[in-house]
Amino acid sequence: MDVFKETKRALRQLEGTTSIPVTISCDGDGYFDRECPSEECKFQFKVLMGDWKAKVRDEEVFCPFCGHTADSTEWNTEEQIEQLKQAAIEHLRSSMGNALRRDADRWNRDTAESVTRLIVENGLQNAVTAFQRCVEAMFSNISSAPTARRNAFQNLAEGSRLWLAATGKAYRDHLSEDELNRLNRSFQQRHLLAHTQGIVDQDYQQERRYPIPSWPEDRCSTTDGPRHTRSDRSSSHRP
Ligand SMILES: [Zn+2]
Repeated sequence: MDVFKETKRALRQLEGTTSIPVTISCDGDGYFDRECPSEECKFQFKVLMGDWKAKVRDEEVFCPFCGHTADSTEWNTEEQIEQLKQAAIEHLRSSMGNALRRDADRWNRDTAESVTRLIVENGLQNAVTAFQRCVEAMFSNISSAPTARRNAFQNLAEGSRLWLAATGKAYRDHLSEDELNRLNRSFQQRHLLAHTQGIVDQDYQQERRYPIPSWPEDRCSTTDGPRHTRSDRSSSHRP
C-alpha cells in the first residue's frame, strides 16, 4: 500500500509549469498599477485594463517614462508580485494539504479496518480456546471419565462423544440446534484463522453453503466430527 499515493500525484501535477488563475484588482475606474521593470527607472503608472489587454497581445511594452521595453509579463508592481507569490503558495498549500489529508484519511480508515479485524479474530480465537479449556477442565474433574487424548476437545464431535460416554449427555442435550451451529461455525472459523491464515478454502465454503445437517454425529458414529480443511485433517491440533 502506498501511503502517499495522493501526495505523490499532487507533486507530479505540480511538476513543470502550472498555471494558477490570479485576479489582480484594478481601481473603480478600471485602471490598474504597472511598474517599469528597469532597475534605474521603476516608474509607476496606471493603465486602463482594456488598454493593457490590447498591449499584452503585442507582448512588448514600452515604459512611458524611460522608454524601456520589456515583455508584457514584466510590469507588475512589488505589491502585485507579492500577491502572485501568495497565490502560488496558497495553491501549493491547498493542493498538497488536500492530498495529504486524503492520504491520511485513507491510512486511518485502512488501519481502523485492520485493527477491528484483528480484535474480532483474536476474540474469536480466545473464545473458542476458552470453551475448549473449560470443557476439558470440567471433564477431567469427572472421576469416572475415560482418558481423553490431548486436544480432544478441540474437535466438537469428539468432545461431545466423550461427554456422552462419561455423563450420558452429549452437547446437543445442553445446547439448542442454533447454539450448536454457532459453536460449530466458531470452531471452523478459529480453525481457518489458526491453520490457513484465514484463507477460506473450498471445504469451508461448501460447509458454509451446506451446513452439516446432522451435526454432531454423537451416537454410533464413525465420522471424525466436524470436517476440517483438507491439509489439517490428520495432523494434531494446537490451540
Ligand atoms: Zn521606465
